[in-house]
Amino acid sequence: MSNRESIKRPVSSRLTVLRSQLSPDSSSSAMASEKEAALAAAPSDAPTIFDKIIKKEIPANVVYEDDKVLAFRDIAPQAPTHILIIPKVRDGLTGLSKAEERHFEILGCLLYTAKLVAKQEGLEDGFRVVINDGPQGCQSVYHIHVHLLGGRQMNWPPG
Ligand code: AMP
Repeated sequence: MSNRESIKRPVSSRLTVLRSQLSPDSSSSAMASEKEAALAAAPSDAPTIFDKIIKKEIPANVVYEDDKVLAFRDIAPQAPTHILIIPKVRDGLTGLSKAEERHFEILGCLLYTAKLVAKQEGLEDGFRVVINDGPQGCQSVYHIHVHLLGGRQMNWPPG
């Protein structure tokens, strides 16, 4: 975690990150609960928690916003920097597997925003973007989103 990150992040969030990095048990239980959440979430067109964030009905730690996309910190960070980038209008994009030609522009916007936010977050040494899709892809929220992860060494293959 860079000095900049450790200054900006709240103590509780930093502790969560440290726990997930230092303790194999808590890391694997976090992975297990993510998997459980994904398996419990049936693919659906129903409104999601992200609609409430877009409408500012519930709080989020927003780091970037324009007319098309919103980027905010993940509530359960898996890295010192973990940001979700979402389209403000879902337009049928519950997940990447539902993409159609009309979504070319917004899909490009999501990835380009990941690049902008990575720079804004000071991730000069690299970062990872992830799009989970469907139950086997461990997707739990059916409003397409790009995960931007950084601030630590990533591993390969991912779990
Ligand atoms: P996925 O499992 O790929 O569908 O990712 C959904 C992500 O949304 C998970 O990483 C959750 O931690 C995150 N998440 C769920 N609710 C919130 C919330 N209210 N604010 C920020 N992130 C959230």
